[in-house]
Amino acid sequence: MTAVAAATVRQYGHHIGGEQVDGTLIDRHDPARGQLVARFAEGSSRDVDRAVKAARQVFTSRQWSRLTATDRAGLLEAFAALVTEHRDRLAGIDSVEVGKPLRFAQGDIDLGIAHIRQAAALARTARGEAFTDVAPGYTAIATRRPVGVAGLIIPWNFPGLITLQKLPYALAAGCPVVIKPSEFTSGSALELAALAETAGFPPGAVNVVTGYGPVTGAALVQHPDVGYVSFTGSTATGRAVLRDSATTITRVGLELGGKAANVVFADADLDAVADGVVFGAFANQGESCVAGSRLIVQEAIAAELSAEVVRRAARLRVGMPDDPASDLGALIHHRHRDSVAAAVTAGTDLGAEVLLGGQAPAETDLADGAFFLPTVLGSVAAESPVFQEEIFGPVLSITTFQDEDDAVRLANATRYGLAQSLWTKDVDRALSVGNRLDAGTVWVNTTSDGAPELAFGGVKGSGFGRDAGAEGLREFTEYRTLQLRGERRPSPFASGERQ
Ligand code: NAD
Repeated sequence: MTAVAAATVRQYGHHIGGEQVDGTLIDRHDPARGQLVARFAEGSSRDVDRAVKAARQVFTSRQWSRLTATDRAGLLEAFAALVTEHRDRLAGIDSVEVGKPLRFAQGDIDLGIAHIRQAAALARTARGEAFTDVAPGYTAIATRRPVGVAGLIIPWNFPGLITLQKLPYALAAGCPVVIKPSEFTSGSALELAALAETAGFPPGAVNVVTGYGPVTGAALVQHPDVGYVSFTGSTATGRAVLRDSATTITRVGLELGGKAANVVFADADLDAVADGVVFGAFANQGESCVAGSRLIVQEAIAAELSAEVVRRAARLRVGMPDDPASDLGALIHHRHRDSVAAAVTAGTDLGAEVLLGGQAPAETDLADGAFFLPTVLGSVAAESPVFQEEIFGPVLSITTFQDEDDAVRLANATRYGLAQSLWTKDVDRALSVGNRLDAGTVWVNTTSDGAPELAFGGVKGSGFGRDAGAEGLREFTEYRTLQLRGERRPSPFASGERQ
């Protein structure tokens, strides 16, 4: 069993100004067993306003403005130590609420801790630039100032990790935050806010308002005192966020959906490819923005690789999140499971062939959960919705190509551009094809990989802005210059000479 037994019902209020603020409760039933596991408060625009005011009060306080970047780095290190101490409890909460196997949730929190440490290191090395020769006696100092209160809007697939992919960078930059987690998976964000305060961040520096997106999320985006909104979620919601941000001219970062491909050339190491393709497509039940949901493989090796991928995917165990033998857990809820099943049907209606799965598992002990088998579809045409649309479930489509141009055309043939993988032993090809793929991240001979040093984000319909690394921290800042004239400026007016 996990650190959090499925039978434990956790109840939370919002976390505002260091206090718990209660509201009408939203029940969260876990998607694996259908049991009540948590209750979150349903936020209103008034709750959001209260949280933004609490954050704003911190931002304008003398105590906050006197904190140096080194002080913030020290607080982040203390925060990292506390999250490490509570790692299994936080992972247990994410595992139960999302339905994902516990060891995947533990991996998420571990990566989150690495992000906190990375943000602390960046805070310590933050610097601006100086200009001394732009005009005689003229000196300018350019600094990156915190943008003010930051709104962080989090999806349900990696609740703890995505919170930690944003929160420590905001704090490192000097921005108090208001977090709006998903209504399905709010537990870890609330726990992290409490831990940040225990670490020494003042009450009001990290606030959490839970509830439904169109109410609480929209109120956060539209609030005039929010300086920047870092949003991760679907492309459709991202569009609404962008529209709402126009009312207050608030800068937003949008980490949106994806439809990553594994592009495999005949010279690749097929054993490594098969492992990578199965991992990329089915880790986190395929509920990953970077899921390699399309296998685009060179015709000469298509039959051999497809058979190997099917063989390895068939060995994956779908089961309860707290069963150490489970590779895939439940999908986020039954409605989503039904939409995954409908996407598979839409694909087969257009000629795709089911090579594996395509349905819910038959085991009776999984009958109450939102489970779906690892699914592989062959002969998928580029026009098919299975190829074009983000399914966000354990569904892999296979399409073949002839040559490099064909491979690049197919990989880039969707509206998304978050991540792509390329498998080849040819270095020239890795560079030339790699640079032609539309994506914020291109992996060569690996997939769903990365490190906190590397900023992450998309192009095209996958959004703009970056999370993590130095670029991620920069998003929470504004470039400002302070300009000093050492010598009197000559007047450009003719009347100036007559005086
Ligand atoms: P979603 O868009 O439904 O919700 C994301 C968050 O936005 C939730 O907290 C939700 O309550 C909130 N929200 C909903 N409507 C809103 C509105 N009108 N204004 C403001 N906030 C609103 O996404 P989801 O279903 O929770 O997550 C899955 C999606 O997230 C997938 O499309 C996936 O690709 C994407 N995602 C992207 C990344 C990335 O880094 N690019 C990472 C993970 C997930």
